[in-house]
Amino acid sequence: MAINKDWFVKKINGFLMKDNANKLSFDDRSLIFNANTIVGFALANDPIFDKYKEIIGEFHLTPIEAFKKFCERNSRESTFKDLSVVAYVLPINEETKKENFEYSKEMPSVRWAHTRLFGEQVNQKLQKYLVNELEKEGIRAVAPMLEKYIYKVNSNIWASTWSHRHMLYATGLGSFGLSDGFINPRGKAMRCGSIIVELNLPSDASKRPSDPYKFCTKCGDCIKNCPVNAISFEKGHNKHKCSEHVISTIPYINEKYGINIYACGLCQVGVSCSSGIPKQ
Ligand code: SF4
Ligand code: SF4
Repeated sequence: MAINKDWFVKKINGFLMKDNANKLSFDDRSLIFNANTIVGFALANDPIFDKYKEIIGEFHLTPIEAFKKFCERNSRESTFKDLSVVAYVLPINEETKKENFEYSKEMPSVRWAHTRLFGEQVNQKLQKYLVNELEKEGIRAVAPMLEKYIYKVNSNIWASTWSHRHMLYATGLGSFGLSDGFINPRGKAMRCGSIIVELNLPSDASKRPSDPYKFCTKCGDCIKNCPVNAISFEKGHNKHKCSEHVISTIPYINEKYGINIYACGLCQVGVSCSSGIPKQ
């Protein structure tokens, strides 16, 4: 079977439609993520991945470095030549976005909090599913985020050794915005994932905008929505201020919704880039 863009889109959308993990359990069992993904490819030896070491930090792994760790851990051989990154977007349900915008100007709504917790579980389950489906076709793949010897988070600077959003940029799926979210044709309100596949897939690097903030119109909607002024035109996204607020939501979510998670996302809802690329 040909492993191409269509194959990935069908596998991801099929998973989102069928797997019960992608259903909101507490009310109408509607989908956490719409079965309407977009997928991009980049070759593992694309120079952008070396640039990420300068932009994000030396700790951020190139796909080749991550795949080498996978091979070493599993005693496998590879030429590391036919390797690609596959990245995808999981758009958040419209009703969830609407509710989070209308519900409060400070604390997240129940659907948003559930999406934050259970949506990430869906995302990780999906990565595992894709790796298994590729293995059935005799193709090796690794989901860096699922491997503890590859994926590490530095909580002091809120940065990890593998950034899905940077994989989206590398694979030509959109650009960053003022609030650090990723603006793409399905909108900034999304979660995203990426895996490394031992295949030479046709790169989407030519779709990558040279300006990493190309699709942000600087409309300022996200600045207005942020309850703690963590976004500004002058300084962009203040990660420290943002994380302080996000962490402070834990007791509220715990008490009101009975789940243990932090969430906010008010900069992703009711803004011009929530559901697509805004008009320039
Ligand atoms: S809301 Fe406006 S300023 Fe903020 S990231 Fe989106 S386009 Fe940029
Ligand atoms: S997640 Fe919340 S606190 Fe952080 S920048 Fe967005 S609106 Fe502000």
